[in-house]
Amino acid sequence: MSGSSTNFAIARQLKQVCDKVQAAAARRPQHLQYSVPRLVAVSKTKGTDLVIEAYNAGQRHFGENYVVELYEKSNDIEIQDHCKDIKWHFIGRLQRNKVPKILEVPNLFVIETVDSERLAKALNDGWGRLKKTETLQVMAQVNTSGEGNKNGCSPQDTTKLVQYIREKCPSISLIGLMTIGSFDHDLNNQDKKRELFSLCAVRKEVCDALNISEKDLELSMGMSADYEHAIEVGSTNVRVGSTIFGDRGPPHGKTAPAGASTDSGKDGSDANLLMNKMESLDLHHLAVN
Ligand SMILES: *Cc1c(COP(=O)(O)O)cnc(C)c1O
Repeated sequence: MSGSSTNFAIARQLKQVCDKVQAAAARRPQHLQYSVPRLVAVSKTKGTDLVIEAYNAGQRHFGENYVVELYEKSNDIEIQDHCKDIKWHFIGRLQRNKVPKILEVPNLFVIETVDSERLAKALNDGWGRLKKTETLQVMAQVNTSGEGNKNGCSPQDTTKLVQYIREKCPSISLIGLMTIGSFDHDLNNQDKKRELFSLCAVRKEVCDALNISEKDLELSMGMSADYEHAIEVGSTNVRVGSTIFGDRGPPHGKTAPAGASTDSGKDGSDANLLMNKMESLDLHHLAVN
């Protein structure tokens, strides 16, 4: 895997994904055509050189799912030099003790994974203390798969969480709902579409209850395996990683030391966490929290 051929591939893969995003957007029914879907390039585990390459190819929104990794990439000198207009999305599990750190991320565009009032309050209070002029954008993460070991608030509790953020958290703005959904690659297209529809249904319920226009509440859903379907049913924000950057295979080279814990939730040193994430990446959503 030589650097230059990898980089060339990224621009090409990015272009292909962008084309498919546009084509899927054009297939949407008329009432869903009010917005241009946003592509978030999920760069987790990938080096800063690849982020810069994608940025140079025109990509602006990037997603990361570990606080330490996002913190380090966003503060990286090269990225700061080359990617002035980068917009970071946090899409991983956020523990309240990591709130101060994530609020230090420059160019933080949105935290997509707010799944409890306690976390919303911690973000609101932390951001408030920083005395910024603008609010911090967040999304509420909803567990649409019904699997108990997934993160996200339950569909039934979503209205309450949205209402709490809107009424009790003046320093943060709720811009949408996010779901990770099922990672089951055996789902056929119809099953996938049905699962994607469940976030649409939650949005309708929330909007009806709180008298919000559905157009004012984004939907973040869809990943490499299903982003085109997600857009067709109304996603406004798709998070695509491996199709752009290549597989995040098992670690090799200078990665986790033998016996490193794969429990990303356990607080180790930052260096350890960085290493652990390499291993736990494609497994952490399956792990019991
Ligand atoms: C890794 C990840 C993605 C991207 O997954 P791909 O299948 O590589 O496109 C999207 N969303 C979340 C929350 C992720 O953790």
